[in-house]
Amino acid sequence: MSIHHLARANVLALEPYLSARRLGGQGNIWLNANEYPLPPGYGLRGGNLNRYPACQPAGVINGYAAYAGVQPEQVVVCRGADEGIELLIRAFCEPGADAILFCPPTYGMYSVSAETFGIARRTVEARQDWQLDLQAIRARLDGVKLVYICSPNNPTGNLIDLETLRAMLEMTHGRALLVVDEAYIDFCPQASVVNWLAEYPHLVILRTLSKAFALAGLRCGFVLANVEVIQLLLKVIAPYPLALPVADIAEQALSDEGLRQTRTRVAEINTNRETLAHGLADCPCICAVYPSVSNYLLVRCDPAYRVFKTLWDQGTILRDQSKQPGLADCLRITIGTLAECQSVIAVLRALKPSSSKESL
Ligand code: PMP
Repeated sequence: MSIHHLARANVLALEPYLSARRLGGQGNIWLNANEYPLPPGYGLRGGNLNRYPACQPAGVINGYAAYAGVQPEQVVVCRGADEGIELLIRAFCEPGADAILFCPPTYGMYSVSAETFGIARRTVEARQDWQLDLQAIRARLDGVKLVYICSPNNPTGNLIDLETLRAMLEMTHGRALLVVDEAYIDFCPQASVVNWLAEYPHLVILRTLSKAFALAGLRCGFVLANVEVIQLLLKVIAPYPLALPVADIAEQALSDEGLRQTRTRVAEINTNRETLAHGLADCPCICAVYPSVSNYLLVRCDPAYRVFKTLWDQGTILRDQSKQPGLADCLRITIGTLAECQSVIAVLRALKPSSSKESL
């Protein structure tokens, strides 16, 4: 007997997010999930596993608040920034009535989370320079409760201009929350809008330990917002969202020594990104390397499937972005170790473009 007829219609229709792990592949160089390429050296310090953990462990909350420059009351810690995206929908959106808005090409989970909860998704494509189309957003804002803006944007790698974010905050004031997804902001911390929280009650910021902190496997992220928003999110969060070992390691990552290691990692990745960008610019099969301030590069290829397949066959796994609006023939390459970057460059230098005479 099928139980299909018991499932919610929107779940039956849902296409789940194809995470890098779900996509699979057989590789030894993983450049498809924007992870840091090497494991950090933290170990568990113990703790009583017979007891439930604190819902919001003080050591983690205080550590992240100090790092981000906010008050502890302005922080929620959760199971990755992905859970932050979902908590906001659960707390602010009425299924069947409200909508969220986002601007493709961008991160895929805003859409999937909204769909899961039966919340309408409204999209306004980014302009050609991947800045926001303010006029079009203004025209589509009715009924929207949450606007998700990713900066630096995944997968394009650019920041959204500060004046554009200001204009968005003015536009949404009293109508919707503006959620700025700063998952990659640790690679360019000067561009954060965290200092604007005092000015805007409806500003929300998403952060994570998955990228610059090298802890994607930990599943630990944060929502930063004003107290009123935080209190609402704490109403809908699971009773024990963070396992004890997660809190233990997150606290170590936010110690002075942990932060020092993160700064070193950021400097290394930013240097490797420039090396990779320069190397790729000389590859005949790469038509464009887009500027990035994060731990990945978006490239336009000639053509994408051949670049993807050539590297895949050699065990180097990239992320195909060519189905996103405006990103035909685009691939995203996570910045790995220097050796990994050099290996990508070496393979692609030897690959002829499909438009070259020799390949005809
Ligand atoms: N936002 C963006 C823009 C991301 O790229 C990611 C990770 N792919 C997330 C949020 C989710 O991060 P986390 O691992 O903390 O759930």
